[in-house]
Amino acid sequence: MKIGVLAFQGGVIEHIKQIEALGHDAIEVKKEEDLEGLDGIILPGGESTTMGKLLRITNLLKPLKRKIEEGLPTFGTCAGMILLAKEIEGENSHLNLMNIKVKRNAFGRQLDSFSEFHKVKGIENEMELVFIRAPYVEEVGENIEVLCKVKDRIVAVKEKNIIATSFHPELTEDLTFMKYFLSICG
Ligand code: GLN
Repeated sequence: MKIGVLAFQGGVIEHIKQIEALGHDAIEVKKEEDLEGLDGIILPGGESTTMGKLLRITNLLKPLKRKIEEGLPTFGTCAGMILLAKEIEGENSHLNLMNIKVKRNAFGRQLDSFSEFHKVKGIENEMELVFIRAPYVEEVGENIEVLCKVKDRIVAVKEKNIIATSFHPELTEDLTFMKYFLSICG
């Protein structure tokens, strides 16, 4: 399969390595043409405000939104989750696709970055979940399936063809979550 990774900034290479380790082609997505023929796309972690600006400057925002609305399997991690949300506390939305309200940098200073082992719905074994200045989901709307909660907060959700996590599965050696996403891609 051909899996795109939005490649403006942030954790791009880590996703590419996992896709390739599982025998698939990883495509860096920076412009509209890069969206052609993809079986899935990943919106990585990084800085959501910067990525949102770059999506607008490069005119990629609308065609990407359209592809995802048409059913392109999509996985957003951390900043990627923020890009997908219909509501961001105190800010304007970007792709405005998922029926969730997110809060940025939500775990506070004490918990800026941490990792914990947890069960995620759809994944057999417990996974190590790595959080880096992560958002959480404050509210969910219709059609949202909650996949995981940590510290009583929602940190993984699914809505039709879209999955979003507050944590970074690409920062561990464990390929299980990537396999799960690829199983949705084809
Ligand atoms: N704090 C970042 C933001 O709000 C997200 C952090 C991350 O992607 N690791 O955009």
